[in-house]
Amino acid sequence: MSNTHAARDLDTSRPHSARMYDYYLGGKDHFPVDKQAAEAVAEAYPGIFTCARENRAFMHRATRVLAQEHNIRQWLDIGTGIPTEPNVHQVAQSVVPDARVVYADNDPLVLKYAERLMRSTPQGRTTYLEADVNDPGSLLNAPELAETLDLSQPIALSLNALMHFITDTADPYGIVNRLMAALPSGSALALSHCTPDFDPPTWEKVTDIYTGSGTPVQFRPHKDVARFFEGLDLLTPGVTVGHRWRPTHPAGSETPTDAQVSLWAGVGIKP
Ligand code: SAH
Repeated sequence: MSNTHAARDLDTSRPHSARMYDYYLGGKDHFPVDKQAAEAVAEAYPGIFTCARENRAFMHRATRVLAQEHNIRQWLDIGTGIPTEPNVHQVAQSVVPDARVVYADNDPLVLKYAERLMRSTPQGRTTYLEADVNDPGSLLNAPELAETLDLSQPIALSLNALMHFITDTADPYGIVNRLMAALPSGSALALSHCTPDFDPPTWEKVTDIYTGSGTPVQFRPHKDVARFFEGLDLLTPGVTVGHRWRPTHPAGSETPTDAQVSLWAGVGIKP
């Protein structure tokens, strides 16, 4: 690990989005500064815990559907976050034991915990890359990626709760297009993205808290999230609020509100 990374690792003076997210999920891998920022978010938007939980639940269902119904055996998960069980490979390998997963995140803190992402089945394989989605070329050309994934076979690109950290100035649509262009026909995009659509004033406050703590964010409306899937065949039910994407909870059980979840989610297949 370089000195710069070591220094950033020890920087507990400002909140990290990955550690704030760990707090929302009830994890233990965060510092007081993260808890403080996360609690400020929760005060403005009490639904944040539901949002984080439903985001994970969407990832579980999308991963399972891709493995069971679309013959996906390989995943590229960018913006992995601090590991929270089950992680993508654990869900995928519970369906296809030889599934292969490449994880990538640009936060050196996630690298510290990456060992937890390496507990693959013996038949499958997992790798962790420290990489920035803003540089898709370097990410796709990383030798570890080619060692783990077969780029001639379908791959699911999973970008969960990531693209709202990429503002329009950084060309988010160009980034996703470049990533999908490198994957063969039959590949998939699974994406979730926070949205202000159900409660704009609250999300203005959330935006201010993140931006004010040094993390630029852009929470997008439905049409801008749907745009990430242009050129792909959207699986039913399309781009929906996270908990409405192929729900598996028993009928009659209590479901959260759209405003609590505030997350658009969808899965598309490359023709
Ligand atoms: N995908 C996980 C975690 C989401 S939290 C889930 O849905 O449960 C968002 C993650 O994206 C954080 O770990 C953060 O470090 C990472 N991230 C933010 N900007 C990034 C970038 N430019 N490149 C790669 N990862 C990034």
